[in-house]
Amino acid sequence: MARAVLEISADAIRHNIKALKDFSGKKIIAVVKADAYGMSAFHVCSVLEHMDEVSSYAVACVEEGVELRKAGFKKDILVLGGVLRGEERALTEYRLTPVVSHKEHLKVIEGLHVGFHVKYDTGMGRLGFLEEVIRDSRIKGVLTHLSSPLDRDFSLRQIEEFKKIVKDYSSVDIHMESSAGVIYRVPFTTHIRIGLAMYGEKPAPDYPVALKRALRLKARIISVKYLPSGHPVSYSRTYTTDKKKKVGVVAFGYADGLTKALSNIGYLYWKDKPIKILGNITMDMTVVDLDNTSAQVGDWVEIVGEHQSFGDLAKLAGTIPYEIMCNVSSRVKRLLVP
Ligand SMILES: *Cc1c(COP(=O)(O)O)cnc(C)c1O
Repeated sequence: MARAVLEISADAIRHNIKALKDFSGKKIIAVVKADAYGMSAFHVCSVLEHMDEVSSYAVACVEEGVELRKAGFKKDILVLGGVLRGEERALTEYRLTPVVSHKEHLKVIEGLHVGFHVKYDTGMGRLGFLEEVIRDSRIKGVLTHLSSPLDRDFSLRQIEEFKKIVKDYSSVDIHMESSAGVIYRVPFTTHIRIGLAMYGEKPAPDYPVALKRALRLKARIISVKYLPSGHPVSYSRTYTTDKKKKVGVVAFGYADGLTKALSNIGYLYWKDKPIKILGNITMDMTVVDLDNTSAQVGDWVEIVGEHQSFGDLAKLAGTIPYEIMCNVSSRVKRLLVP
């Protein structure tokens, strides 16, 4: 029996995919790199595999693509990180589509019968061709990536830049919008590449697509007791009780993915009640304030769910939801719920 569980709602994921499809009018490339941002690519793809709105999956590297194929998923798989020497056989054997963003990737697939997408750098400064125009009959798609989708002026410049590039291509997939980028409704793209929004995590404050929360992260209480006034809590004694206090220990620490930055500032939820994190978060456990609750050993506590999102936690911790999601460790049991 797992003491910490991450539930992924199939219904919410389906709802979000449909809402994104309706809003954009475009097919969806589901970005499931890094084990679907730590949420379990197997569970997520089990839902997406049956959806016509989803044309393909995108992963970071060949190895991730091979894993999806071995698990039996049949949709196209885009490998965002290109292809290196030694990986060419896997492309054909497992029918993977590399995103070519460098001359060296092209050399690797020279003479091979593989379709690929070609990536241009319009302002991300990471992957992509800058000046060169790649012409090849095997090209099935052309893409670029927004570096700052919340910056309207810069994004519009990237869109203009990309528009000039795609003029030279016909009958290929064209994509640039990520979750936050869908707000631009770029008229000349055919697909959107969606990760974060699929889970109901809002990529921007006034996001125009109505999303449903798909993730719920919870853990059990393993101890409840009263500490006297003036009693220190956890490593380095960064918190001391100011009165007699009911405290609980939740079986979830930074080894499970709760960043230590949330020590003394974050909240978890017992039923509908926020319970403050007291003292330093430790490897396997977090101490919480259970005053004025009837919480008991064995109860479940919500870390992410109805009351707070990964985005809320990230904001408090000074990071982004992606990072907190990716840090949910393998000790946490992933469950696909209807
Ligand atoms: C990760 C990634 C995405 C998905 O971004 P979200 O913000 O999660 O929608 C899209 N495109 C590329 C190139 C990526 O690396």
